[in-house]
Amino acid sequence: MTSSYDVLISGAGMVGAALGLALSRMGLQVLVAERRSEAQCAAPDPIQRCSLVNAGASTLLAALGVDPAALGTPVARMRVWDAEHAGGIHLDASEVDAPLLGYIVENQILEQALRNALQGAGGEIRYHCQWQYVATDPTAIIVEDQHQQLSQARLLVIAEGRQSPLRSALFHGSILREDYQQDAIVATIGIERPHLGTAYQRFLPTGPLALLPFRDDEHGRPQASLVWSARRWRSKSLQAMEDEPFLRDLQEVFGPTLGQLRSIGKRASFPLSALHVNGYVQERAILLGDSAHGVHPLAGLGVNLGFRDVAAVQQLILQARKDRQDWGTLPRLRQYERDRRADNLATVLACSGLNHLFSNRSILLARLRDLGLWGTGMTPPLKRFFIRQAMGL
Ligand SMILES: Cc1cc2nc3c(=O)[nH]c(=O)nc-3n(C[C@H](O)[C@H](O)[C@H](O)COP(=O)(O)OP(=O)(O)OC[C@H]3O[C@@H](n4cnc5c(N)ncnc54)[C@H](O)[C@@H]3O)c2cc1C
Repeated sequence: MTSSYDVLISGAGMVGAALGLALSRMGLQVLVAERRSEAQCAAPDPIQRCSLVNAGASTLLAALGVDPAALGTPVARMRVWDAEHAGGIHLDASEVDAPLLGYIVENQILEQALRNALQGAGGEIRYHCQWQYVATDPTAIIVEDQHQQLSQARLLVIAEGRQSPLRSALFHGSILREDYQQDAIVATIGIERPHLGTAYQRFLPTGPLALLPFRDDEHGRPQASLVWSARRWRSKSLQAMEDEPFLRDLQEVFGPTLGQLRSIGKRASFPLSALHVNGYVQERAILLGDSAHGVHPLAGLGVNLGFRDVAAVQQLILQARKDRQDWGTLPRLRQYERDRRADNLATVLACSGLNHLFSNRSILLARLRDLGLWGTGMTPPLKRFFIRQAMGL
């Protein structure tokens, strides 16, 4: 027995769940497979890993009924500065007449809200489920789960994140990869002074360090979300430290802007790399979100690119339905690749370039950085361009 759907999605992370919700809201029959169990997905994340969901992506999600404004902490401005030199810049949403750059939202909370809304809209999620590719025929693609249950649809969307077994099985084109030799250490930090909706990013020679606005703790004391990207040798020694010396090191490199750094929650580290898959589409299959592209977290753009992929797929299917045509054929799917490839690749390369430009001790590059930051700050149209980019507009 093969169950039939309009669209199959493998992976119920932020991006896969958002697409499932968007398509369910359009009245399509959607089945999502998620490798983790339902309990694992619903359990609070002890690391409280967060993402900056920018204004553009927030509008998209709010239109689907999952509003980051109700889930996260507003970010109105960003302060970026170079630890070893004079250069720095302030990017403020008010400079483009907008109230906010976006929201810092815990990944687990946003994922869970999207999965709940997806099921509320009639979409189906199968937990503890992994598909294997079976076959593609002229009208459908067929997959099989670990219990030999077959499912078919006009389109299979692969949203399994960076390590994607279905991508390996179905996509054999080239993949651009760069290991940054850095890890990002993530934790929640208790701070003395309120963040006032400012995201701070300090560029150190070993990598960028960000303290992002986060909700107050249960006693009403201010907190920030740390993303400390550091060369592997440095991140390993940081991870090995007890909390006290870790906080002392953090305070020393971040400085006094947020007052005394009071406390630190559970820490975890993530290896950092760039990834871009050359072709996003096959007959009846596409790659979405981190399965197609991965960027350095320094600009907070990774999942926002994924949400733009969601909007492009939604548009593609809307148009195909209007034209009364099959949305899973290769010529149709190529439109998705044309819509998204340039934006994704440019962002992957720009984030890599910024990481290289800032994460080193070269005096020449330091002068170039200072000049770039100063020049951008002194040129309002250029500054407004960067603010709009950060907002995903
Ligand atoms: C330290 C750090 C900080 C970041 N900060 C930001 C930020 O501020 N802003 C931003 O935009 N981005 C940020 N990112 C990037 C962001 O986390 C990713 O872009 C985002 O998580 C990608 O979402 P996704 O749904 O594509 O993939 P994932 O989040 O990886 O989700 C994939 C889902 O698929 C499931 N899955 C995997 N394999 C299978 C399988 N075989 N079958 C079924 N299910 C499967 C997984 O269990 C998971 O639920 C950051 C990344 C890091 C590492």
